[in-house]
Amino acid sequence: MSGKVYLVGAGPGDPELLTLKGARCLGQAQVVVYDFLANPALLDLAPAAAERIYVGKKGGDHTLSQDEINRLLCDFGKAGKIVVRLKGGDPFVFGRGGEEASALASAGVSFEVVPGVTSAIAAPAYAGIPVTDRRCSTEVAFVTGHEDPTKVSSSINWPALAGLGTLVFLMGVKNLPDICAQLITHGKSPQTPAAAVRWGTTSQQETITGTLESLPRLVSEAGLKPPAVFVVGEVVKLRPEIAWFEKLPLFGKRVLVTRTRKQASKLSRKLRAMGAEVIEIPTIAIQPPADPGPLNKAAAQANTYDWLIFTSANGVEAFFAALQDAGRDVRALAGALLAAIGPATAQALKDKGLLPEVTAKSFVAEGLLEALKGQGLAGKRVLLPRAAQAREVLPETLRQWGAVVEVVPAYESVPPKGAGQNLAEALARGLEVITFTASSTVENLLALVSPADRKRLQDLSAQGKLTVAAIGPITAETARRHGLNVQVVPEAYTIDALVRALAAHFNRP
Ligand code: SAH
Repeated sequence: MSGKVYLVGAGPGDPELLTLKGARCLGQAQVVVYDFLANPALLDLAPAAAERIYVGKKGGDHTLSQDEINRLLCDFGKAGKIVVRLKGGDPFVFGRGGEEASALASAGVSFEVVPGVTSAIAAPAYAGIPVTDRRCSTEVAFVTGHEDPTKVSSSINWPALAGLGTLVFLMGVKNLPDICAQLITHGKSPQTPAAAVRWGTTSQQETITGTLESLPRLVSEAGLKPPAVFVVGEVVKLRPEIAWFEKLPLFGKRVLVTRTRKQASKLSRKLRAMGAEVIEIPTIAIQPPADPGPLNKAAAQANTYDWLIFTSANGVEAFFAALQDAGRDVRALAGALLAAIGPATAQALKDKGLLPEVTAKSFVAEGLLEALKGQGLAGKRVLLPRAAQAREVLPETLRQWGAVVEVVPAYESVPPKGAGQNLAEALARGLEVITFTASSTVENLLALVSPADRKRLQDLSAQGKLTVAAIGPITAETARRHGLNVQVVPEAYTIDALVRALAAHFNRP
């Protein structure tokens, strides 16, 4: 039985530039073989059980030779596996994807090619440079900058290139002075506009502009390192007007999102829309409570409560799962009144077809109590399905009011596997912002990191090099208690307000 190998273009860096087809292939992969230039965030799209194999090259440092990679792909294919070979940009643009496809073809392994957004177009686009434009360039050539331009037998047709509108060189940082010299020798004006774009489409994007004559010096003065594309032509002149990415409010910020994987998406989406690069580290995994008995019992007798009070969307999900397991549906709650701690919890109820009577305005236990005051809770049977570890102020106050309160642990939040390692990698790559959306995300994150990394987080935040943002005062207080210097707390305790407050913090609302 033969499997299938998908040669998938990962896009230039921004993970949202992966194609839908690429995402579908990743979603069904049993093995992912990936490169240095493929954004590691994309690996999250593969099933947790998929094998992930890094074969990247960085500079001259190859973990596997091209022959070994070809063999690896053929072997997995022959073993019947669904393989995604994830390559930076487009697999057939200087990606040696053609060689891999040939190897698969001659081994009789079935394969498909999923083109990607190449850095040759995307890095200039994110720097505000269209590779063609009717006003100044009617053609574009993609050229390898890897070949030594001074070698006599160069297969690059310099005279032809010198006559073209736009040239995009890849892999050319080292040879930049010789590339420019060759173009000038073959008749391109030394005054032709030119630009180098490093790590295009990512938070690390850096652009240097000049002319064919000046660019080598400017690039060397800036100490620009690979990966970078190098664009030559009149189109570079359009950059001042068109540059858009670098103007986004959170451009250049790498932001750590600490949430459960499921809940992270909204915050991550909003941050990305503002130009941030998001690193999602799940610091909490939700699992059933150690003793599910009380929750199951409460669900079975759901019709006996006067009030159900929910303090998280997780609590809503867990309670309704238990209700279903008990063979009942929402009609069991026909006689009950419902309260939610905030809009996300209220939304979780609405998704079940239920409208809560009470939704707190400030999303903390105190706010919920404020909203419940005057609801005549004395003598009422109240069910509170919530996290196994939670503050006591809510049940205690309700009891003082004369309510008969049943607190049942509906779920437990625990540290997920592998997160400590992910955080260490994020710290190594550089991090500008950490967001916390609950006290438990603070506690779990700090429990996950090594003592040395914890100290580093504390020092960076004290020096103002790392901005710590908390969704509300209680989360902020928890972060401060853990030695972090919290600089951003929005006025309303919502995801939207948190993102706006961050943009305002960087003076780019
Ligand atoms: N197949 C890839 C190119 C692989 S060759 C593609 O289609 O994009 C590697 C070269 O790609 C690097 O040396 C650099 O020139 C370019 N490159 C890849 N990602 C880049 C990025 N984010 N910004 C700038 N250049 C990039």
